[in-house]
Amino acid sequence: MQEEVQGQNIFMKRNDPVQTLKGVGPKKAEALQRAGIETVEDLLEFFPREYEDRRRTVPIASLQENQPALIEGKLLSRRFRGYTYKKKSPLVLLVGDSTGSIQIVFFQGSYLSNLFNAGSCYSFYGKVTENNGHLQMIHPEFHRLGDPEDVRGVIPVYPNVEGISQKEMRKLQAQVQNLTDDMEEWLPSSVVRKYRLASPSFAYRSIHRPTEGKQVLQARYRLLFEEFLVLESGLLYMKTAERKNGAVIAADSADEFLAQLSFSLTKGQKAAWEQIADDLQSEKAMNRLIQGDVGSGKTVVSELAIFCTVRSGFQAVMMAPTEILAKQHFHSIRNDMESLGINVGLLVGSMKTAERKELLHALSEGEIDLLIGTHALIQPDVTFRSLGLVVTDEQHRFGVEQRKVLEEKGKAPNIMVMTATPIPRTLAVVLYGDLDISSIHDMPEGRKPVKTFRFTGSSRKKAYTAVLECVKRGEQAYVVSPLISESDKIDARSAEELYEELTDFFEGYPVALLHGSMTGEEKDRIMNSFATGEISVLVSTVVIEIGINVPNATCMVMENCERFGLAQMHQLRGRVGRGGKQSFCFLILGKSSEMAEERVRALCDSADGFLIAEKDMKLRGPGELFGTRQHGLPEKWIADIFQHQDVLEKAKEAAGDILRQDTEFAKKENRELRRRIEKLFGEGIRLEL
Ligand code: ADP
Ligand code: MG
Repeated sequence: MQEEVQGQNIFMKRNDPVQTLKGVGPKKAEALQRAGIETVEDLLEFFPREYEDRRRTVPIASLQENQPALIEGKLLSRRFRGYTYKKKSPLVLLVGDSTGSIQIVFFQGSYLSNLFNAGSCYSFYGKVTENNGHLQMIHPEFHRLGDPEDVRGVIPVYPNVEGISQKEMRKLQAQVQNLTDDMEEWLPSSVVRKYRLASPSFAYRSIHRPTEGKQVLQARYRLLFEEFLVLESGLLYMKTAERKNGAVIAADSADEFLAQLSFSLTKGQKAAWEQIADDLQSEKAMNRLIQGDVGSGKTVVSELAIFCTVRSGFQAVMMAPTEILAKQHFHSIRNDMESLGINVGLLVGSMKTAERKELLHALSEGEIDLLIGTHALIQPDVTFRSLGLVVTDEQHRFGVEQRKVLEEKGKAPNIMVMTATPIPRTLAVVLYGDLDISSIHDMPEGRKPVKTFRFTGSSRKKAYTAVLECVKRGEQAYVVSPLISESDKIDARSAEELYEELTDFFEGYPVALLHGSMTGEEKDRIMNSFATGEISVLVSTVVIEIGINVPNATCMVMENCERFGLAQMHQLRGRVGRGGKQSFCFLILGKSSEMAEERVRALCDSADGFLIAEKDMKLRGPGELFGTRQHGLPEKWIADIFQHQDVLEKAKEAAGDILRQDTEFAKKENRELRRRIEKLFGEGIRLEL
């Protein structure tokens, strides 16, 4: 009978669709599906976001304002507020217990009035507020005393699912709870003992229906721990299994390169280089991520590695995400290296066949020491004589597959990837899996922080007047519009409008337009004339977002900046403030919204990429910022990792212990762990970075 009441079905299986549950028709099933819940197991894995304490009723006299509470009392009176009764009048109940009375208000509550009889007893759960010196509850949950649905205890509150009320969700959860009865422990007993983990049965039961707060903590710890253990074991496995012996590079020739630089390295650059030099000199191939905010000077660090690689008799390759960036690297790096006798080549998609053929021949003969390029580099006919170093710039723009193809062009070459997306270390370890990490936290000396200002559509002229002042001093400006994209013709027109408007405004100074749908040649011509200072104002789309380096540019204007993400705006702003001159960033809000204002405020307040990344994560969720969709890691994990780094550390330690004794997860006690790792990372255990 008890089973009946709770609607549980003892024949239920974990992968039964939710439609098999009572109360789930096609509509509810669809609502659940939208939240990613398709099977009863999904439901079990859908954890409460918080809990309400409904274990004890509170005497009315001891109620506290702004606290949620459960009360029980007799209905003393029932009326509608207002002079005359209307359908929309609030329903006001007066409820009393032996200590006092309280008002219960339901706006537009006429439809409820039949449910309440004066003299009967009810329970109410809700937040207590104050109104003219009287305590009240507005729209509490209520039950007639003795109602079987009047559940007491610690009540779970689930993340909102559109179309499913909390009450409905709790009923659904109640139906699947018997799945927790005979869950088997799958973790090795040594791990369970060492980290004092609760059993899976206990964890799943307690996360949904705890009887006290302590149980929730124990349950959550167990569930997080097992998630993190799978993750960390997989990562560690890849790290130890995949690191091959590679080329040994002598790092002492770095001094020769450093001697001809016009500056000395920052502390952060030096520290990063020391780690890289150790990697290069060791027999194990380097596998390192260089993380540094925009403008921190990552390129020169990669040049050191390239230089030493070439001096040791190997070739190097550098891949950049856009043609503009590849060409910029080509010109500046060739400039640094040519006088030292290093032959630098460029390979991009727009090259002519004959030219390309000649280049590839020289490359396979080993006449080219360093090849810089775009995705064009990964084509099969690009072959090296002895590839010793692969550098990927702005690595978040590439899929791991592209990186891997490039890496396979050498025999276990050293790998160096660079990114300007600042990520807290613990997260980076997870996102970039098998990579070692160097972070550059400081900026080259003499940089002045970029001054950032907010404008609106009506005050934007002021921004341009300020830009004009800079242009008159011989400085240059970027104006970025989100409205042109290669695929969107309508938007392209409006960017051209902006270009026309500014050509008038900056009369006497050269203004140019750059966007993604131009040919490579056109883009080059414009970028080159901007770099050499022939163009004063460059109106552009986000094609300039990453990597572009023109130190004489001091102004960055972002039109319709509400359309940009926070991290993206930080990248864009990083295009200025690269020389010794004071630089400015003008954010023009086309359409204001709370979110847009908050982003603008964050940028005006901070120049620290790490802080901004954290803020962005809070505003948009971690997935967007880190491109986790590409990484294949569930978004909610990233948030969990962020919040529970201590658990992650413990899981990592446990993963290390397991792998030391069983390098292939072959022991019986580790089999389920292996199955889960494979499920997460795919067959062959490889993280889809
Ligand atoms: P990012 O890290 O964003 O890729 P870059 O490597 O493009 O930054 O460097 C930005 C600018 O800073 C370049 O003009 C570079 O020559 C200069 N730079 C790099 N390191 C130093 C340094 N130690 N001192 C002065 N200028 C530097
Ligand atoms: Mg760069």
